[in-house]
Amino acid sequence: MLLIGEPVVWSTPLRTRFRGIDVRDGVLLRGDAGWGELSPFWDYDDEESSTWLRAAYEAATIGWPEPVRRSVPVNVTVPAVGPERAREIVLASGGCRTAKVKVAQRGPDGTLESVAAEADRVAAVREALGPDGAIRVDANAAWTSDEALAHLAEIDRAAGGLEYVEQPCAAVDDLALVRRKQDVPVAADESIRRASDPMRVVREEAADIVVLKVQPLGGVRACLELAEQVGLPVVVSSALESSVGLAAGVALAAALPELPYACGLATSQLLVHDVVGEPLLPVDGALPVRRPQPSPAALAAAPADGPTTERWLVRYHRLTRILEDV
Ligand SMILES: [Mg+2]
Repeated sequence: MLLIGEPVVWSTPLRTRFRGIDVRDGVLLRGDAGWGELSPFWDYDDEESSTWLRAAYEAATIGWPEPVRRSVPVNVTVPAVGPERAREIVLASGGCRTAKVKVAQRGPDGTLESVAAEADRVAAVREALGPDGAIRVDANAAWTSDEALAHLAEIDRAAGGLEYVEQPCAAVDDLALVRRKQDVPVAADESIRRASDPMRVVREEAADIVVLKVQPLGGVRACLELAEQVGLPVVVSSALESSVGLAAGVALAAALPELPYACGLATSQLLVHDVVGEPLLPVDGALPVRRPQPSPAALAAAPADGPTTERWLVRYHRLTRILEDV
């Protein structure tokens, strides 16, 4: 593997708690083709995380296929916040015309957020977006099929129509059931990127749309191949990366033959510090297709402490050994 210099570890607080974490961190690798990011979440084991390393190697050593478009429309992401905050997030989004709203949040005791709270949030988002905006919701596999059917009916009404629901339930057969029993289109996310058999979603007609993420699926080329096999519309989303990792998502979105939906790549906004001088932030609701470089000043503002650096370097070396063994 032709890498240049030492891996660089970065860390930043998040603006809003997300996916149960307050801090995002990872490793940047540099090679002949540029910088790549390795940032599997800490709850991912080495086997699963080694796929993320493939994506970083691709970015650093061979780069990405040629783009077929120059900008990528993106959605603003609205976490499980109250209606006032939801409104502010949409209005500060850089002109995004699509919002992805998190639903089906569970409290520390496991109780599901009320459908009334979810309906208030999407109604506030609709008000902020106006009638022409698109609203999608993401349940992160947290509903049973019965909960999905009950909640979706009300949320769809409060939103004045949903574009789609992302991963309402965990099991593929539950996705298929939710898809059959109501009219909101279903997007598969976890059922693709964390599944040993991503094509099962297609065989069981469990989704209308698939969400692809570059790092968990092992690189831009791996995603393009999967997209071709799946044959469904693709939404490219991030794994809460820095702009170095986001650039790989932008490269995938830019290389797909069709891109009918806004992508989930406007997540630099969630980081307090990014590692590049000019982060990938939306202008008029879209990201330009470009590849920002880490800057010393930005890296200095997102330093990892000693233990975090050590933990990442040890993890990185374990993952390189997994790929060497294959
Ligand atoms: Mg998702």
